[in-house]
Amino acid sequence: MASKRRLRRRSCANKKQYTRGDAIKAAKQRRAKGVWIHAYHCSFGDHWHIGHPTKQAKATIRSRIRDGEETDVDTT
Ligand SMILES: [Zn+2]
Repeated sequence: MASKRRLRRRSCANKKQYTRGDAIKAAKQRRAKGVWIHAYHCSFGDHWHIGHPTKQAKATIRSRIRDGEETDVDTT
């Protein structure tokens, strides 16, 4: 059996790919529902994904929202 963890880390093939704008929009919609998701640029290609932010990314998102600057955070 292949390791699920390794698969998730090494590949983005099974993830939904977004344009920058769509990823930000999708993350924003989930955050509006209380789900902490952020948009990030994929390290494998020129597209974006959404996923759970790290603690640090979360803090950055929070402060930017506070500044009225709804945004993506690229933590990769
Ligand atoms: Zn990707």
